Amino acid sequence: MPRKDSSASSAGEPRPTGKDETRKRLLEIEQEFAEIFYEFISLRRAATGVDGKTPESAPLTLKLHLDNPALAGNAAPASFLETQLRRKAEEIADRSAVFPTGKVYCYWCRSFDCSHGQPETPRQAFSGYSPTGQPEWNELTSILLDRKDPRIDLLHRSNPATLTLVQSGYELAHDQLTTYGKRSGIYQILAQATVGYLSGGKDSRKPEHHYALSLQAVQAGGGRGPVSLNILGRLPDGRTGFESVEESESPRLLDAIRKAGRHLGDIEVSSLPRRRRGREKQRRVMDVLRRLSRNIERIYRQRSRRTRHSEVRHRNKARPTSTALADALAAKEQSIYRDVEENTWVILGPRNRVHIFNDAGLHITSLSYPPETIRHRTTRGKWLRAKPDALEEFRRRLQDKTRK
Ligand SMILES: [Zn+2]
Repeated sequence: MPRKDSSASSAGEPRPTGKDETRKRLLEIEQEFAEIFYEFISLRRAATGVDGKTPESAPLTLKLHLDNPALAGNAAPASFLETQLRRKAEEIADRSAVFPTGKVYCYWCRSFDCSHGQPETPRQAFSGYSPTGQPEWNELTSILLDRKDPRIDLLHRSNPATLTLVQSGYELAHDQLTTYGKRSGIYQILAQATVGYLSGGKDSRKPEHHYALSLQAVQAGGGRGPVSLNILGRLPDGRTGFESVEESESPRLLDAIRKAGRHLGDIEVSSLPRRRRGREKQRRVMDVLRRLSRNIERIYRQRSRRTRHSEVRHRNKARPTSTALADALAAKEQSIYRDVEENTWVILGPRNRVHIFNDAGLHITSLSYPPETIRHRTTRGKWLRAKPDALEEFRRRLQDKTRK
């Protein structure tokens, strides 16, 4: 009889069984779960200011209290699930964090989009964070000067060299206060290679063509995102970004930069014991940037070799600097030449001494060249006879130096 009853009731509208009811409830819970999860991800992104691409699904392991304390009458202020969901959502937000390339995070304004996030002029490079977390930008020459880098001379020649400078993230965040983002994981600069000056294929002797690039190895997302390369700079025509560099620089430079970017992305330390990860990551990042820096210097050294004093290695141990001005003042007209590539004055002194001066009569350097080099230069047109007016003006400048 009971059997007949049940078949009679299912003959009309099918009534949901206990199993269907549970499935329907779970589907609703799943939907709500995903919404809450997504909200936690958005909250994290709003807090860090770093956007990202949300994955379609997230692996989730949840632990449930089977004797729920809320049911037992002592309700906890925060849900046990909330802690787990929030933690996982933050991890996913951090791992998928993508910072806008071409911009540095400003901890003062808590933004990538304020005026501090990019250089104001082409010759500026990122020189570190201020105590209050603002990105600071300085001329590359000033950065080298502050660090007492002797290579600064190479940037002040009439035909300046292209130099690189590799700095650690610690150095760049040295002055930054902890409350203004020091050791923050929102935008963590692990290291930086600065390159300058580039001139985009234009005449490198003219400062108005110069620009610097700051190449930063960055990890967003609290140390959980991938290490990537951020490229910062402003070209003399006002354009920013890697695309503009791409249009004006040598393909070899771009290859070197791209390769470094790939190597940074490959850095993976999760298989190491936790306590060693930070140091090992830093070591590998510095290695990649040092290699990049050597590659870049090699590219530009080869490019300008012909226009430089490659005979430096023939230099005598005792530099003939002390006699420079005296030799120059005593030099006869036939011993004074104009270096047409470097835009400098060349004085041939006694015993193969060669002194280089600029137009203002300022002594740049002195060298000893083998006699055949001097002959070669004066007969092949690198060093030319000066025009009488220019020569007279130059001699006047030299005379001025004796009166100071
Ligand atoms: Zn700012």
